Amino acid sequence: MNSTQHSRSLAISFCFAFLFLFACNNTNKEQQKTSDSNISNEHAQSDTLPGDNEVKAEAPDAHVKAEQGYAFPLHTDRLAQSPIDIISLDADKVGKEQISFAFHSDINAAKNLGHTIELEFKEGSTCTVNGKNYTCRQFHFHTPSEHLIDGITYPMEMHIVNTLTDSVNANKPSYLVVAVLFKIGAENKFIKEFLDKVPNEEGEEDTLQTGEVKLDDLFSQFTGNDIKSCYTYQGSLTTPPFTESVQWVILKHVLEASEGQIMTIEKLEGNNARHVQAINDRKIYSQ
Ligand SMILES: [Zn+2]
Repeated sequence: MNSTQHSRSLAISFCFAFLFLFACNNTNKEQQKTSDSNISNEHAQSDTLPGDNEVKAEAPDAHVKAEQGYAFPLHTDRLAQSPIDIISLDADKVGKEQISFAFHSDINAAKNLGHTIELEFKEGSTCTVNGKNYTCRQFHFHTPSEHLIDGITYPMEMHIVNTLTDSVNANKPSYLVVAVLFKIGAENKFIKEFLDKVPNEEGEEDTLQTGEVKLDDLFSQFTGNDIKSCYTYQGSLTTPPFTESVQWVILKHVLEASEGQIMTIEKLEGNNARHVQAINDRKIYSQ
């Protein structure tokens, strides 16, 4: 493979209201495991966390669920958290801006992180949005979806996480996260490219060859008009430390994946969707 083939290039143009900045990140597993065991000890006698009618204290993601505040929000000073329930009729349709969205990326690893499956971009992968340069970091999945559209939860949501290249070394990097929603339907070609390459064991990682998984096989499932339709808003990472420097882009067109594909991912990562957060005075833009 030559360097051109190594660099998957994809150019997609669509409209939206804002300059993009950001995404969600990796949970610190060591910290999580430590806290998990604390929670398990504290609540060893109970089936569920206090006030929580869903997450068992023994569940591997119990600590995250507790921090994310199903029943006891811990971050009342944080007013721009994600995910949110996007009410389409309330979204602001002004301020549209033509935007250029180009990925030059290669995907070189598939990881089972326990709380999610994650595929990593090869170092040097970039995307350009409205002239701003972002470094592609990774993409991962949530089952079910984290964002709701008009109150509807979808069975799966994919997050493509990028950091503003100028901010990579900053204490608080700026993120751009592109979210793709999935519903049950036909088998998805893009997901098929990597699903059997994700290790079954938590903490394991498999190397991918250049060209095995192609992001353009995901974006080619959007038509010209579909790719122009999205919601954008300023929010946060949906995993600790919930940093509020994320420009979210949620594509409106919902892709299909087979029930078997979604169930396989759900089996690997469990329910890893953060609960929806208050919108407060934020504006959600629709294009
Ligand atoms: Zn995510």
